[in-house]
Amino acid sequence: MDTLLTGLGKSAQTIGLVGPSVTDHPDLPALARKITEQGKKLSFSSLRMETLTDELVDLILQSGQKTLTVAVDAPSEKMRDVINKAATDDFIVEKCRFLTRKGILHLKIYSIIGLPLETEDDIDQFIRLVERVQEGYVEECRKLGRIGQLTIGLSPLVPKPGTPFQWHPMESVKSLKKKFARVRKALGKIPYLKMSFGSPNEAYLQTYLSRGDRNTQAFFKTYLNNGHDAKSALKEHPVDEYVYRQYEKNDYLPWDIVDHGYRENFLWEDYQRGLKAAHTPVCDTAICHICGLC
Ligand code: SF4
Repeated sequence: MDTLLTGLGKSAQTIGLVGPSVTDHPDLPALARKITEQGKKLSFSSLRMETLTDELVDLILQSGQKTLTVAVDAPSEKMRDVINKAATDDFIVEKCRFLTRKGILHLKIYSIIGLPLETEDDIDQFIRLVERVQEGYVEECRKLGRIGQLTIGLSPLVPKPGTPFQWHPMESVKSLKKKFARVRKALGKIPYLKMSFGSPNEAYLQTYLSRGDRNTQAFFKTYLNNGHDAKSALKEHPVDEYVYRQYEKNDYLPWDIVDHGYRENFLWEDYQRGLKAAHTPVCDTAICHICGLC
């Protein structure tokens, strides 16, 4: 790391740490300290709230960074159970207050939408959660005498191969748009709150490209020959059957030719666990053999 930082010289002002769960890295505080000591700004793709300690937030602020993106992962506590995340709404509200109090004035909260079993009730709970976070944010900013911006980011779930939701259909574009409209209507007039929504149409295309089989090449040929117009290529090659198909346990999936290294049935069992909103303990890499990768 030292060599890398020295090698970068003054050309890079910001060092971004990227990974599925960067804050779980045991040496993260030492690494963050080193980056800060070199006068670089620390940046993260997205952070898990429960791992944001006092020390780490201080280092982030010392580095000059005043913007953080934190994942709440799912709109409601029930949906967080479905994806095996433990954060409660109270915890999220308190953590956001803590971050604002510390001086993180630009806070972005990110969640997925369109998860299995999600209903309008989950969206209403998300709206209530955002209202509570915003109240806390404004209160803490008042005490500081400064204010920035709170941003809510929502992205539609794209069921990806090699994940427990690979069997699950994407939520319909129409239904996702309805949910976004519900959120926009409820939160649109709240001050200091910005909203950013992922495009359901883009998610539809992504899901097709993720779950498509060899017939995807016909779509690509049309797309490449029509000036890269995905919408009209999709009209010529209807793909609902790939995007909205519910696969069953014994179905042969187009990507089954790829060995991801999981033990047999692990992903299916995890999918079933999610559908029951049941928890599994956080894995300890020293002893865990749950998925078969270690
Ligand atoms: S075996 Fe356990 S620790 Fe290793 S990757 Fe799988 S879940 Fe994580």
